[in-house]
Amino acid sequence: MSGKEQRRPDLAELERPALEAAVVERGQDAFRGGQIFRWIHRRGVTDFGAMTDLPLDLRRRLADEFLLTTPTLAHREKSWDGTEKFLLRLADGRQIESVFIPDTPSMTFCISTQVGCAMACAFCLTGKMALVRHLTAGEIAGQVRVLAGALDMRDKKFNIVLMGMGEPLHNYDETMRALRMLNDEYGFAMSPRRMTLSTVGLLPALEKLAREPLMPNLAISLHAPTDRLRGELVPLNKKYGVADIIAACKRFPLAKRSRITFEYVLLAGVNDTPEDARQLAKLLAGVKSKVNLIPLNAAPGIPFERPSDRVIDQFARILAERGVVVSVRKSRGRDIRAACGQLIVEGQKLSTGQRLAGALR
Ligand code: SAH
Repeated sequence: MSGKEQRRPDLAELERPALEAAVVERGQDAFRGGQIFRWIHRRGVTDFGAMTDLPLDLRRRLADEFLLTTPTLAHREKSWDGTEKFLLRLADGRQIESVFIPDTPSMTFCISTQVGCAMACAFCLTGKMALVRHLTAGEIAGQVRVLAGALDMRDKKFNIVLMGMGEPLHNYDETMRALRMLNDEYGFAMSPRRMTLSTVGLLPALEKLAREPLMPNLAISLHAPTDRLRGELVPLNKKYGVADIIAACKRFPLAKRSRITFEYVLLAGVNDTPEDARQLAKLLAGVKSKVNLIPLNAAPGIPFERPSDRVIDQFARILAERGVVVSVRKSRGRDIRAACGQLIVEGQKLSTGQRLAGALR
């Protein structure tokens, strides 16, 4: 990247008010900002030349004065069950994965918020990558526009779940900016009810989320009912324990009829006993909650096993008997390693050119 390029603002990174301000600053009418936002986010057009309702000289000026980056589709792979995994390349050559999960019964895009992840949960493959870097808002929202385009779903309704690579609350500001872009009426105009943020429970960020004007559905990756057990699986639990997370959930402002989802990865012989189920039911009493059991998706290098169907059923039954709303997540796309916890991008190696550019920066 040349020095000049680094100074050019990237329009894909701006929320609409900022985009409008950027064009006004250059002597244009604010509504041009709205038009550009629509081209980028709603229509997936990132070539200024193709923005046909803008005057030609403005298109030229935009190309001169701004960048407009977008993730590119490096590879896509389809599972027998219809799930599709997309490998996307970012402007700096890093790669991330996003997943399309059809007919659940809704259409769902599973989106990443970081390259890698710092949380290092014991059973998650992404955690093995460690954190490479945060994604920008444009890169988070960019996954949605690339998938919607590739799947010809720009005008269809879909949900997004922030359950791809990364911990969304560890990348709080960019994640929230991306959600606002997706919610913008000039963009996909997505209702926050169609958005779910899944977190391992970064408490200060969770408290902040509770005060956000744009509030996605919340999912908490709990995985164990006690600190002793959770501490072994989720290193962050040593900092923010089970009781504190549950207390924060009790305070969390929920829309009418909505519930917090508690995700619980079932690991054979580790957290899948009847006693664990009973403790979990007790823990969640008084929380507007539902439990989503996720039988482990095994992967090489993950030192756990998936429990038998009998054990999974029994765990679910104990919860249900105690009045807990419970579902068992069907693992989609396991054959293409697109299922929960199986997203990892190998060989994040830079080309010689990229290394050189990095050294010169
Ligand atoms: N960092 C966020 C979102 C990403 S993961 C979070 O932790 O919530 C989405 C869900 O997949 C999480 O509940 C995570 O714990 C779960 N998961 C991770 N590895 C898994 C595996 N190998 N099998 C099944 N689920 C897994």
